[in-house]
Amino acid sequence: MRVLLVGGGGREHALALGLAADPTVQLTAAPGNPGIAAVATLRDVTATDPDAVAALAVDVGADLVVVGPEAPLVAGVADAVRGKGIACFGPSGAAAQLEGSKAFAKDVMTAAGVPTARAYACASPDQVRPALDEFGPPYVVKNDGLAAGKGVVVTEDRAVAERHAAACGRVVIEEYLAGPEVSLFVVTDGEAAVPLLPAQDFKRIGDGDAGPNTGGMGAYAPLGWAPPGLVDDVMAAVVHPTLAEMRRRGAPFAGLLYVGLAITRDGPRVIEFNARFGDPETQVVLALLETPLAGLLHAAATGSLAAHPPLRWRPGAAVTVVLAAANYPGTPRTGDVITGAERPGVIHAGTARSTAGALVSAGGRVLCATAVGADLAAARAAAYEIVGGVSLDGAQFRTDIGLAAAEGRVAIPR
Ligand code: AMP
Repeated sequence: MRVLLVGGGGREHALALGLAADPTVQLTAAPGNPGIAAVATLRDVTATDPDAVAALAVDVGADLVVVGPEAPLVAGVADAVRGKGIACFGPSGAAAQLEGSKAFAKDVMTAAGVPTARAYACASPDQVRPALDEFGPPYVVKNDGLAAGKGVVVTEDRAVAERHAAACGRVVIEEYLAGPEVSLFVVTDGEAAVPLLPAQDFKRIGDGDAGPNTGGMGAYAPLGWAPPGLVDDVMAAVVHPTLAEMRRRGAPFAGLLYVGLAITRDGPRVIEFNARFGDPETQVVLALLETPLAGLLHAAATGSLAAHPPLRWRPGAAVTVVLAAANYPGTPRTGDVITGAERPGVIHAGTARSTAGALVSAGGRVLCATAVGADLAAARAAAYEIVGGVSLDGAQFRTDIGLAAAEGRVAIPR
């Protein structure tokens, strides 16, 4: 099977490793990155240009295109690829609005009866103020458009909340959901839906969840503390009603439905939907997936997921620790030389080759040290050993990825 993978971050490197592990797969990635180059042929493309991606898919004779990031999906890349008669794993531009617009997602959730935070879509300070009054602190203010995981402010500080709303223009203001967060990835062809292992990521830059939100500083799976039946409950209460509502609207969602949940005292509540694999949770979930990835994604892309055999998982746990550049999540410093990244388990997120051929940092999140172990403590130890072997000047990383879970300290509010 000839597969074209679109994107060039850590999620795409993890997808590339999963796809290339299958000897029947011939992988091309565009634009890819220096880590992906070890397992795929790289081609250049503007990933958000639907015609360019579709033309490349034709050029490489792709049997399947897998779109990693959200921006190409919202731009309609999957529609353009399917327009050439090529199977594509990724939702249409219309269906990707589940991620592209927070207000659209809330509307679908309401129509589908999905448990989520109460919310108001606001377009002016006159609408923002009463919404903040009603919910009280902590305030949750979300940019309505795509913001690469950084458009949300959760704060006790009313002035900060009002400033973020004013800076964004259109926002969704919502009730704060208290409880540990879960990321559940669901592979779907629009009708049949297969959940992957739930994972947890760490959004804040600092240990103990201190500091500003980021795109994600690490993740682990599986979740030993999750309530029994969690996945079945979420499939029944969230995923199937949402897929049905999307079909009803004439925008069936086929691809990866990412369900971000808070496990509150009243049960799971949806925090957000995304239209693609999450980064860095993909790194840990795919590290544990034994079933060949290309066959699974091809089944979803061709409407034959109901006939796909049940997934097989490796025993044990997986942990990924993100190494971020100096000054991230502000404007990251780039161009720093990286050494020690050749070892197995190093996933490239924001790297490039200098003209002299050296591996250098080229983004906010630079590398993800990813390891599997017999249990969470062993996986943590192995991931941090990889971190210790990599050198990047000014690198920031959290030391507590998966720690609370390994020590049995993750609690659902009562
Ligand atoms: P989002 O982009 O919607 O996933 O939001 C980013 C992060 O903000 C989430 O992962 C949560 O940590 C936090 N967050 C978003 N909405 C809420 C909420 N209603 N209650 C509590 N935390 C939230």
